[in-house]
Amino acid sequence: MRMFQVCVCGEPLQLNEQPTPQPAGTEVLLKVLAAGVCHSDLHLADGYFDLGGGKRMSLADRGMKLPVTLGHENVGEVVAVGPDAKGIKVGDRRLADPWIGCGTCAPCRRGEDFLCRAMRSLGVFSNGGYADYLIVPHPRYLFDIGDLPPERAAPLACSGITTYSALKKVATLKSEPTVIIGAGGLGLMCLGLHRKLGGHSAIVVDIDPVKRDAAKQAGAAVVIDGTASDASQQIIDLTNGGAWAVIDLVGSSASARVGYDSLIKGGKYIIVGLYGGDLTVSLPPIPMRALTIQGSYLGSLAEMAELMELVRRTGLPDVPVATRPLKDVNAAMDQLRAGKIVGRVVLTPAS
Ligand SMILES: [Zn+2]
Ligand SMILES: [Zn+2]
Repeated sequence: MRMFQVCVCGEPLQLNEQPTPQPAGTEVLLKVLAAGVCHSDLHLADGYFDLGGGKRMSLADRGMKLPVTLGHENVGEVVAVGPDAKGIKVGDRRLADPWIGCGTCAPCRRGEDFLCRAMRSLGVFSNGGYADYLIVPHPRYLFDIGDLPPERAAPLACSGITTYSALKKVATLKSEPTVIIGAGGLGLMCLGLHRKLGGHSAIVVDIDPVKRDAAKQAGAAVVIDGTASDASQQIIDLTNGGAWAVIDLVGSSASARVGYDSLIKGGKYIIVGLYGGDLTVSLPPIPMRALTIQGSYLGSLAEMAELMELVRRTGLPDVPVATRPLKDVNAAMDQLRAGKIVGRVVLTPAS
């Protein structure tokens, strides 16, 4: 089987081949039908996240071992099951929840693998779906996609669950506008799910006019240029005094400034994006204005099940998806890095 791996941080993914593994125990072997290219793959390939002020968080320090096959947004067809894998059979088409923990700690036992301190996530700490085949350790991480096209369902595994979980932290979704910063793949997914969850209206902020247009077409009530010096004031004016909820899908110093500064008393700034940077804030206004700064990262297995149920009931969010053959993965990542992708690029190894 072919697999595209990070072998040296900062270099293009390398094509390696190995015999197709056979599933043991509770493992399930998928033939990869679709593997989404996610912005965080760029950080994984680089080997670090920017913490701002010249500081970096090294992924090697967090347990990433090389070489590793990237790809954490995967849909596949079951081609073999281990002797202890129950409730799954050859031919089933499943989305793989890649956020897999140790399986024994307290968060893992609650189905909150994403809070595990010893994660073995697919495409991060163990081999992912930029490959012909993918091993998933247990059927509990597999979700039926029904009749959904694999390439459109795949992004639910990361951008879908990430934005769904962030939106669930917003109590005022149905009564007040929600501010969404960033209209890339994550932003359009967030906008789509916002509407499916009954979201009242969305104000979308992006620095790129092409992405603002895409957000407008995807149903944003208003779009704002994130580079405008009065971006926060525009949000405050549009929300009658400030935003109750800002979901920041960029997570840069600049986006954090815009998001945090546009909050109303009692407002929530939810940070999701991992672009990198820092934010300096005065402390007294946090208690005096009862502000919340909250991180949101991935989601639980229960939330993934809810998301799949929402999508089966109401349809997929309308995120533009372009497919590319597996061999074009490095070109797709370069395009993403250059900010040239609207929506999502999904690799299709089986086609
Ligand atoms: Zn991702
Ligand atoms: Zn655990």
